[in-house]
Amino acid sequence: MLDKVLIANRGEIALRILRACKELGIKTVAVHSKADRELMHVRLADEAVCIGPAPSAQSYLNIPALISAAEVTDSSAIHPGYGFLSENANFAEQVERSGFVFIGPRAETIRLMGDKVSAIEAMKKAGVPTVPGSDGPLGDDEGENIAIARRIGYPVIIKAAAGGGGRGMRVVHTEGHLLSAINVTRTEAHAAFGDGTVYMEKFLERPRHVEVQVLADGQGNAIHLYDRDCSLQRRHQKVLEEAPAPGLDPDARAKVLDACREACIEIDYRGAGTFEFLYEDGQYFFIEMNTRVQVEHPVTEMVTGVDIVREQLRIASGLPLSLRQEDVKLNGHAFECRINAEDSRTFMPSPGKVTLYHPPGGLGVRMDSHLYTGYTVPPHYDSLIGKLITWGDSREIALTRMRNGLDELLVEGIKTNTDLHKDLVRDGHFQQGGVNIHYLEKKLGS
Ligand code: ADP
Repeated sequence: MLDKVLIANRGEIALRILRACKELGIKTVAVHSKADRELMHVRLADEAVCIGPAPSAQSYLNIPALISAAEVTDSSAIHPGYGFLSENANFAEQVERSGFVFIGPRAETIRLMGDKVSAIEAMKKAGVPTVPGSDGPLGDDEGENIAIARRIGYPVIIKAAAGGGGRGMRVVHTEGHLLSAINVTRTEAHAAFGDGTVYMEKFLERPRHVEVQVLADGQGNAIHLYDRDCSLQRRHQKVLEEAPAPGLDPDARAKVLDACREACIEIDYRGAGTFEFLYEDGQYFFIEMNTRVQVEHPVTEMVTGVDIVREQLRIASGLPLSLRQEDVKLNGHAFECRINAEDSRTFMPSPGKVTLYHPPGGLGVRMDSHLYTGYTVPPHYDSLIGKLITWGDSREIALTRMRNGLDELLVEGIKTNTDLHKDLVRDGHFQQGGVNIHYLEKKLGS
């Protein structure tokens, strides 16, 4: 087992990783910016190193500072969490070149999946269903691009190969707008990601977001941990997730779960990962793979009993997967509400001092949060301050527990989006299950 892990992240996920390390008897190193001395995991870690000033570019994204921190603390591995450098192939490479274990896939896998065109190509080869599209990057031949769009059928979406976080995409409804949309997306992609490569896909009008969690040990073993539905999104940001995804076509689902597992073996995947799909009319369409632990991983943990971060640590220690596919049993249903420090109506961030924090509790209730009374939420980072996760042996019970948990949750001194969640978990369509990715924005009237 790894001896000492440096946690290259902050907030709730840093605390989550610290807890998993402690369970396995692994020593922990917290790194933090000057604005983050008061973080809960910094207090709990065996060692803590300040890696720079508040702005992420100078701290959590500062590769030399992170590597030096690993060196001075004699760490054996680095866990990147999610966000920040977690899907940065250069970081993974430098970590390994400096003699540390990167807790994640090999750098070349991150690179392959980070470029959406090559990711789609690899998935097609592995038998994972993809969105009908341009089969590779778009060239400069205008006539050919028009022909591709006609073949796919409008509406189409132009996407940047290097895009991420919902940026670098443009929907085109009519031929008259196609060429200018390609040009604008190319220019934007070049400016934002330093890579102007774009491709074209059929734009699906009312899909659900369904994703498959996988684990692979890089020693020829891979399993899936079933699926999650993350269709409730605002500006491409997930708001509320559940596992398993309700009401899927059973045959299509079984095929896709299997294809994801096979694809892991095909690309020699290592670690935890997620295959993201759009799901419409009983069909799956791969859109991208995330090569890291995800914010919403707890809902899968609740319904499978598998500790995903523990598995990441075991895999990084060179151990084979601790379970086989047939050992993975789905049990009950789970929801996760992302609690953000922001106004429930305007979504304006609301940093500041938490004057009272009272997390909900009880059977089937889990609160993953770094908050405590007296903690000050700094203005420099993502507004996620916690995740309320509930489990029940049926979807109804899990949802009832979520309603009760949200009513119990008290965060005073700052604004949170708890009221939005209270509204969502009482929404009739959401209660039925299976709303599409536009549902939340339509409901909000935005
Ligand atoms: P990112 O890396 O920026 O998250 P994705 O490829 O995952 O990019 O797409 C982000 C979101 O954009 C999806 O969750 C979906 O809402 C929308 N989207 C992407 N591709 C399509 C498509 N072909 N049809 C409809 N919506 C799409």
